[in-house]
Amino acid sequence: MKKVVYTDNAATTPLRPEALAALEACYREQYGNPSGLYSVSRQAKRIIETAREEIAGIIGAHSDEIYFTGGGTESDNWAVKGAALLRRDGGRHIITTAVEHHAILNTCEFMEREGWSVTYLPADEYGRVEARQAINALRRETALVSVMAANNEVGTIMPLAEIGKAVREAGVLFHTDAVQAAAHIPIDVNEMHVDMLSMSAHKFGGPKGVGVLYVRRAVKLPSLIQGGGQERTLRGGTENVAGIAAMAAALKASANEPEKRVSTMRDRLIDGILSAIPGSRLTGDPLNRLPGSASFIFECVQGEYLIAQLDREGICASSGSACSANFSGSSHVLRAMGISDELAHGSLRMSLGLQNTADDVEYIVDKLPALIEANRRLSPVWSVPPR
Ligand code: PLP
Repeated sequence: MKKVVYTDNAATTPLRPEALAALEACYREQYGNPSGLYSVSRQAKRIIETAREEIAGIIGAHSDEIYFTGGGTESDNWAVKGAALLRRDGGRHIITTAVEHHAILNTCEFMEREGWSVTYLPADEYGRVEARQAINALRRETALVSVMAANNEVGTIMPLAEIGKAVREAGVLFHTDAVQAAAHIPIDVNEMHVDMLSMSAHKFGGPKGVGVLYVRRAVKLPSLIQGGGQERTLRGGTENVAGIAAMAAALKASANEPEKRVSTMRDRLIDGILSAIPGSRLTGDPLNRLPGSASFIFECVQGEYLIAQLDREGICASSGSACSANFSGSSHVLRAMGISDELAHGSLRMSLGLQNTADDVEYIVDKLPALIEANRRLSPVWSVPPR
C-alpha cells in the first residue's frame, strides 16, 4: 500500500479512537430523540448534558454557557450576527482582524452590506495583532470585537488575554474564533476574558459538522435558528447526539495529552526544511505558534504544483488555507502579513498532529528538497532559482 503522510491537521484531523468509540456507542444504542419524555430519549438527553458539562469543565465555563452547533462556521456566524442584533441600538460597528478565517470575514462583509461598518485590524509580519490596536480602533458605537485565538494558515497565537482584558474594560463584547486553538493550547474563557468562543470538533479528533459556541451567562445572545426549542430555545434542530458525545470524548482525550511531542516534531520539520532548502523561510510567529504548525514560503516555487508533487509522494499538505483551496489567488493572510503575491505563490502549510511520527518528519525532510528543485526547474514563471 502507498505510504501516506498526512500533514494537514489544520484542515481536519483523523478521528480519535475515543471519539469513534463514542460515535459507535451512540449510533448503535442511543437512537432516542433527546426531546422525548420516555427513558430512551432521556438517555440521549443525558449524553448531551454530560458532554456539555465535560466541555465546560475543560474551558473554565459553566455548562449552561455551552451551546452545540453545526461546527466552527455556524458558531462564528452566530457570534457575529447575534452580537450585532443584540447591540444594534448602541451603534453599528464591528472590529475584527485582516487575518481571520472566511467564516468571520465573509460574515463581516455580510454585515457591511447590511449597513454596518467593520474595522479590519492589520497584522504584523508574523500575523499578530496587538491589544493596543484593538483599543485604538474602539468607537462609542462598537458592538463587537472578534479576534481569532490562533491563525489557521500560519499558526500564530494571538495575545488574546491582553486583547480580551482591554476590550472587557471598554465594555464591548469580545468573541474569539478558537477553532484552531481549542485542544491544542490551553483555553480558559476567564483568563482570555472572552464573552463568546467558537470551537469545531473535527479540528481536534472529533467528527465533522459539530461544534460549540460558548456564550457567557451575562450575554443574552439572540437565536439565529428558530425551531423546536433545543439548546434552551437558542439553536433549534434535533441535536447531533453522537457527534456531541464524540466531540466531548475527543476534547477530553486531548486535554489529557499535551502536545509536547507534536511541537518537538514541528521544530525538527522546520529546522530540517530551512537548513536544506535555499530560498526558504518560515511564515508566522517563530515562537508563539500552534504546536503542529509549520508554514513556509519558498522563493520561485509554484505552490499548487508543489502540493501535487507532494501528493505523488504520499504527503498531504496545503498551500494557504484548505478552506480556501477552491479559490485561486494568493492567501489574504499572507498578504496581510506584507508578503507579495509572487512570494505567496510558493507557500506551503504543514500541520502535524498526534498521529504523526518522527519517521514522517524525516520522510518529508528527505523528499522535499528535490521536489522544490524540480518545481523551480519546471516552473515557467521563474528564470533564476535561488542557490
Ligand atoms: N475558523 C477557523 C480558524 C478555521 O480554521 C475553520 C476551518 O478551517 C473554521 C473557522 C470553520 O470551521 P468548520 O470547518 O467547523 O466550519
